Amino acid sequence: MFKTLKRSAAGAAVPHEKGTAGMQTVQMPVPKEVLIPLQMHIGAPAEPCVQKGDSVKVGTLIGKAGGFVSANIHASVSGTVKAIEDVRMVHGVMAKAVRIEADGAQTPDPACVPPTVTDKAGLLAAIQACGLVGVGGAGFPTHVKLSAKVDTLLINGAECEPYLTTDAREMLECSDTIIAGIEAVMKYCEIPTCIIGIERNKPECIDLMCSLTRDMPGVTVKPLPMRYPQGAEKTLIESCTGREVPQFNDAGKPGLPADAGCIVMNVTSVSTLGKYLKTGMPLVAKRLTVEGDAIAKPQNIEVPIGTMYADVIAACGGIREGVSLGKIIFGGPMMGGAAPSADFPVLKQNNGLLLFSREKAVLPEPSPCIRCGRCIKGCPMGLEPVNIVECFNNKDFDGLKARCVDLCVACGSCTYVCPAKRLVSQNMALAKAWYLAEARKGGK
Ligand code: SF4
Ligand code: SF4
Repeated sequence: MFKTLKRSAAGAAVPHEKGTAGMQTVQMPVPKEVLIPLQMHIGAPAEPCVQKGDSVKVGTLIGKAGGFVSANIHASVSGTVKAIEDVRMVHGVMAKAVRIEADGAQTPDPACVPPTVTDKAGLLAAIQACGLVGVGGAGFPTHVKLSAKVDTLLINGAECEPYLTTDAREMLECSDTIIAGIEAVMKYCEIPTCIIGIERNKPECIDLMCSLTRDMPGVTVKPLPMRYPQGAEKTLIESCTGREVPQFNDAGKPGLPADAGCIVMNVTSVSTLGKYLKTGMPLVAKRLTVEGDAIAKPQNIEVPIGTMYADVIAACGGIREGVSLGKIIFGGPMMGGAAPSADFPVLKQNNGLLLFSREKAVLPEPSPCIRCGRCIKGCPMGLEPVNIVECFNNKDFDGLKARCVDLCVACGSCTYVCPAKRLVSQNMALAKAWYLAEARKGGK
């Protein structure tokens, strides 16, 4: 039915709730133990390369990438490996994980030295060694992404989800490593142009990045509209370059940013690369925005990867007195997921932990669809959520295919704008999963 889909910057005008934006990041005290899953990325799980009883230091390799599309995993604390066990991850998938009892000393592994990089192959090898993945949420291995040949590097500093302020703090606190990371990627990957996209609700970050890049050839800063989801890859590419990622590329595969000549890196990812090139310390810690009406001390806190949510909550003063905890969300309120308990570890790609009271977490009662079309108007991918959900209810595979259900990026805008409070994006997720499973089954 649809030959091409015209995306728009429609989206949703979500509240910002960036109460922690002005707060300096604090370091979490070393937890007693961490649980580090060997599958924190898109692709093959890493293979464990330590055993129970082994001593590890901060930065010691504990999981070796299981293939090209995979990522190394490193110890985030110094101490002793207590177990290698199967654990259920917060999104329900089982994975192997390394449990480490911390000695509290946080001794760095002497093997962590700055890499020598002289060309693109060397940069990609260094990135692969340090286990860098898209830390803004996607968890896609960065060396795979940077293998593409493109003309534009887009740095995603939009941070469009409510509550989250980790990228804003990265820009304000670690601007030198952001610049170092950008310089390295542009130089070794021979990318002539770089655009740093930042939503207009972060004027301090825009000013700082403008002043730091003024004399960098090919680098510009683009203030973006405050319209969710500005940070979604395809929306960002359109906003910054005017280019559209094709639905399918020349090989007939789903279009990627590289098909529009772009690579998108989250601002914290490129900064992590800058830090690694300078210090040789791989990705072992993560800044989280801990927020919501149920947490005693909302803040940005840097925690060792593998720290349990419960320990992070305790480090932020615990649950507010007199408040009954209703929901824990990992990530932002639009694209994050609900955690069934606080008994899960922080992953490389986590950037927020939101804690809401029972009153705040209660879901509104949905009413019948009034065919108002707001979900269509609000979809940044140009989809027709209301019609797609109808096709799904009728198990209409061809209807879902014609309406490009697979392009849904799960941004949640359709649910947010629906006046009938219907669970539109949740049904979109079910529709997409069913469609992809049917397509795989039947080779359709
Ligand atoms: S969740 Fe999917 S259908 Fe809904 S607005 Fe986002 S991209 Fe569109
Ligand atoms: S926004 Fe809600 S009520 Fe309006 S058409 Fe979409 S699903 Fe129906």
